[in-house]
Amino acid sequence: MLATDLRRLTLPEPPPSLDPAARDAARARFVRRLREENAVLVAHYYTDPEIQQLADETGGCVADSLEMARFGKQHPATTLVVAGVRFMGETAKILSPDKRVLMPSTEATCSLDLSCPPDQFAAFCDAHPDRTVVVYANTSAAVKARADWVVTSSIAVDVVAHLHARGEKILWAPDRHLGRYVRERTGADMVAWEGACIVHDEFRHRALAMLKASFPDAAILVHPESPEDVVAMADVVGSTSQLIRACVELPHPRVIVATDRGIFHKMKQAAPHKDLIIAPTGGDSATCRACATCPWMKLNALGALAEVFDSPANEIHVPADVSRRALRSLDRMLAFSAGRAPVRNAAACETALN
Ligand code: SF4
Repeated sequence: MLATDLRRLTLPEPPPSLDPAARDAARARFVRRLREENAVLVAHYYTDPEIQQLADETGGCVADSLEMARFGKQHPATTLVVAGVRFMGETAKILSPDKRVLMPSTEATCSLDLSCPPDQFAAFCDAHPDRTVVVYANTSAAVKARADWVVTSSIAVDVVAHLHARGEKILWAPDRHLGRYVRERTGADMVAWEGACIVHDEFRHRALAMLKASFPDAAILVHPESPEDVVAMADVVGSTSQLIRACVELPHPRVIVATDRGIFHKMKQAAPHKDLIIAPTGGDSATCRACATCPWMKLNALGALAEVFDSPANEIHVPADVSRRALRSLDRMLAFSAGRAPVRNAAACETALN
């Protein structure tokens, strides 16, 4: 949400937890239906470990939003079950319009998406007609339809650096922290929307400095949706995939991580010998109820997944004209990332590793 609106936001209640027998039944049901429906599960790193495990075990994918988009587009399944938040389901549908895209909860949204209503965003764009419009993937299909480029956090710096080198001025939306980070890294002329992620916005510099003092041998890994003073403390700043890679490659015995704690599942798999510590948040005064945990990602519960094929309400639809326009900016993102890997953030990570 806009930074000033964060505290007004009503967050969803976490789904009820299942007893062990109900979990087993839900898991078995989902796996059977997945086969029957020629479907594949595509999950984000922030979902619960049991959802990530299910995706891995059934031939699906656990990834960041860029890789989720690529995987869903290339996979031969006729149905994609997207365990993430709504913009990820919409992106999957836009890139694979002939596939059925289902989500365990279509209420799973994102504060960045909520912060950027398409009509207000269109007015912002109209006020800056001379600027190239670059939006973060965490936006609605309608906002993507208005954009020239979509970027994820893994390629945002590289795309803006590329546009800046061509002499283009940038209109950025919606995350203010990522926008500031990109501006600092590229020197581009940017005007930016003032959205924020309710999870990353809560990481706190002072408490992080105290934690680091207690663990001087720890590396600090930070997602760029975090506040400026937290980013300034980082050994590595990067997307979820880049942070997992840094966790593996850095020599430090422990890492302090400023992103959703769901990422620990893959970090533990990739670096089982590392001690993982979540970065401190605003604590009791935080605007999120479950700090360092996205309340909307939590809606991707096993019980909901088991019933995902049963209701038409779980299917994602994107109006054809919106989809057609959003596809242009998404295709640019995919083409750019395919042609320019490894991206500059990864290079920064390599610098930190050496
Ligand atoms: S963690 Fe933040 S950016 Fe990611 S989906 Fe949740 S609210 Fe959105």
